[in-house]
Amino acid sequence: MNKNLEVIQADITKLEVDAVVNAANRQLKGGGGVDGAIHRAGGPEIMEECRKIGSCETGQAVITTAGDLPAERVIHTVGPVWNGGNKNEADLLAGCYLHSLELATEHGLRTIAFPNISTGVYGFPKEKAADIAIKVVNEYLQQNKNMEKVYFVCFDEENKQLYEKRLSL
Ligand code: ADP
Repeated sequence: MNKNLEVIQADITKLEVDAVVNAANRQLKGGGGVDGAIHRAGGPEIMEECRKIGSCETGQAVITTAGDLPAERVIHTVGPVWNGGNKNEADLLAGCYLHSLELATEHGLRTIAFPNISTGVYGFPKEKAADIAIKVVNEYLQQNKNMEKVYFVCFDEENKQLYEKRLSL
């Protein structure tokens, strides 16, 4: 396993990292799940910047302040809604991880924490999502030595076990 990769079970809003990734929606309007938790804990500054940005396409990412969070910045990425698997969901989810990493690098951010994007209300099968996340992040870390640490933040036990199994911890 890549030593720059770590699986943790935690509330992502509590992490002191350079960038926390939010599983946002296209309107950047906030919502439930991790999105709601980030806006609640981070305060209104994050939403103010989201409003100025306007929207984000599925598979893409945008960056804002982290407001009151201990992190430096929030990267908002929009995961695909699972729709059976033939609607380009896998590529779109891979895009979320890749574009978030690229945006972090552009902004000189060297530690980044990802939630399990799309595996909540968006319904992406957790096993498939874990395969995609690990593959994209591993490839990125091999090619980009600037990135110091990538955390896969697993909120639920099922995701934690899936990630640990794949990274054979
Ligand atoms: P999506 O709409 O992309 O499916 P959700 O927020 O519903 O987004 O779920 C994405 C993942 O985030 C789920 O695995 C969920 O358990 C997890 N999650 C929810 N709250 C938090 C939190 N505070 N910290 C980290 N992960 C969280």
